[in-house]
Amino acid sequence: MIIEKNKAVFVHYTLTDGTAEGQLVETTENREPLAFIYGIGMMIPDFEKNLSGLKAGDTFAFGIPADKAYGTYDDGALIDVPKRIFEIDGKIEEGLLEVGNVLPLQDQEGNHLQGMVASVGDDTVKIDFNHPMAGVDLYFSGHVSLVRDAEQEELDHGHIHGDGGHHH
Ligand SMILES: [Zn+2]
Repeated sequence: MIIEKNKAVFVHYTLTDGTAEGQLVETTENREPLAFIYGIGMMIPDFEKNLSGLKAGDTFAFGIPADKAYGTYDDGALIDVPKRIFEIDGKIEEGLLEVGNVLPLQDQEGNHLQGMVASVGDDTVKIDFNHPMAGVDLYFSGHVSLVRDAEQEELDHGHIHGDGGHHH
């Protein structure tokens, strides 16, 4: 059975930055494989494209440029925010505004978003709203561990059930 639309696909992969020798971003080694339904828009389109037609046991290795993955880095998404919005009862929690911290925030419409503290000034904090993987060229290598038909219920839910998937 090959990977095509509506198949349940299980892959082990290692994601590195840019090339096979790049910095390790994440890996499923020693964990459950990544499980997803192919062709329903759950994954990065280029990720799926590169797995098309493979079968269990096949290996893969391919790169996806940042603009086809999580987007290029946008300097405009680096925003100065007044420090006082982080005050609770006139005080800012110790350790909250440290460079690299990811903070849950809300925009004017009440949408929840995450931003990372990029730098801290006297009265303002520079928050980076770029996706953490923005500007990163992705390199995937690994192998296909299983391909099977997705169950109707899985197709209805848009995710895999059981091992490597949702338990409910
Ligand atoms: Zn479900």
